[in-house]
Amino acid sequence: MSGTSLTRRRFIELGRHTAAVTLAAAAAPASVFAQVGRQETARGRPMPDDVSLPSTPPRSKRPDSVGYAIVGLGNYALNQMMPRFSQSARSHMAALVSGNPEKLRRVGDAYGVPADARYSYEQYDRIGTDRRIDAVYIVLPTGLHADYTVRAFAAGKHVLCEKPMALSSADCERMIAAGRRANRRLMIAYRVHFEPHNIEAMALMRRRAAGNIRFVRTEQLSRTDPSSTPAENWRLDKALAGGGPLEDYGIYGLQAALYLTNEMPESITAVTFRPANDPRFAQVFASVASQLRFPSGAIGQLMTSYDSSGANLVHVRGDTGALIMDPATGYKGHNMRLEGRERRDFSLGDPTVQFAGQLDNFSDAIRDGSTIRTPGEMGLRDIRLMEAIYAAAETGRAVRLSPDGRMLR
Ligand code: NDP
Repeated sequence: MSGTSLTRRRFIELGRHTAAVTLAAAAAPASVFAQVGRQETARGRPMPDDVSLPSTPPRSKRPDSVGYAIVGLGNYALNQMMPRFSQSARSHMAALVSGNPEKLRRVGDAYGVPADARYSYEQYDRIGTDRRIDAVYIVLPTGLHADYTVRAFAAGKHVLCEKPMALSSADCERMIAAGRRANRRLMIAYRVHFEPHNIEAMALMRRRAAGNIRFVRTEQLSRTDPSSTPAENWRLDKALAGGGPLEDYGIYGLQAALYLTNEMPESITAVTFRPANDPRFAQVFASVASQLRFPSGAIGQLMTSYDSSGANLVHVRGDTGALIMDPATGYKGHNMRLEGRERRDFSLGDPTVQFAGQLDNFSDAIRDGSTIRTPGEMGLRDIRLMEAIYAAAETGRAVRLSPDGRMLR
């Protein structure tokens, strides 16, 4: 193994296990997908369909439980994360922040969040004086993550921020720096690092259960409703979503390629596609495909789209076997099979433990100072790689990378 690849492996380890990665002073390259020309602001949205609110508020927690302010009461917060707080040993909802007063009232009542702990976006900075709040959980559209994170740190709170971390590496660096200044912790909500199949897959690949990895093929594909437009769907709005499917869904394939090879890529090539005359793709890409070359010789083939029949596949092929995860990174219903010298179908229990596992990891880090499995540095690393993917697609040339994911000129 070359010295360079050792360094790259080291960076993967750092990204996974510690917040101690040193940020170089050099300015990040301008993000090709973050040049949006307008600053988006937070605004309330209607109650999503099919939300099921609890009929009785959750029971109170142990005294050292971490109090979270949930910022943005959208689909993911209401349907996935908020119901899972009851499964976390050390986390509770202390406050809510929303731009929709009626939704705020209904959700606050259902979860037993006191009326004086319900904030509008205009009141957000007042959380600094609310001692019930230890941490902020940001579940807003991506283009708002950086601003709301920096303001939470200024208010003295810890921050759990949804993926993707932000729309540019410069914003990610700003978020990390703000956390350091405030001496507060920052975690990116990469839930699959707490999901049993993905955890087992990482362990299998580390002990070379499929031999030396030759290929990682990932497909994170979905089809956006043909009638939707950027005005009513923020995922199609560049100012809020960046380039589109890569940041939103393809990020899972990118992550898998890194945590399964346990390497950082040394070069990237890519293509993007945006059909003419389709209002859905006036601002974001329909499809992105990229190829990553790793120092070991492994090749990553990543596909993601908002205009394809659905898939959530991760397929690793080594020189003696293969690992197939299909679906790979969803909320539940995972399938995982190992082929080759070892043959096995995996059934590893309830994947929904990932939600509470993520909360427990951050709450423990806040209370005990323990390690965050998915720190801000990991989010920054991934945004750097996305910038490289877009730069490769734009120039039509391979982009070479330093071990921390920065583009080499
Ligand atoms: P939604 O559109 O369902 O909800 C976003 C919420 O953000 C809205 O309901 C609204 O809350 C608030 N908001 C504030 N300003 C705006 C604005 N200008 N436009 C739209 N909404 C605004 O999105 P999701 O819940 O699906 O996604 C939110 C975040 O969670 C994103 O970062 C996304 O990437 C991440 N996510 C993560 C997943 C995971 O598996 N880890 C899965 C899905 C999403 P209110 O009305 O209360 O003000």
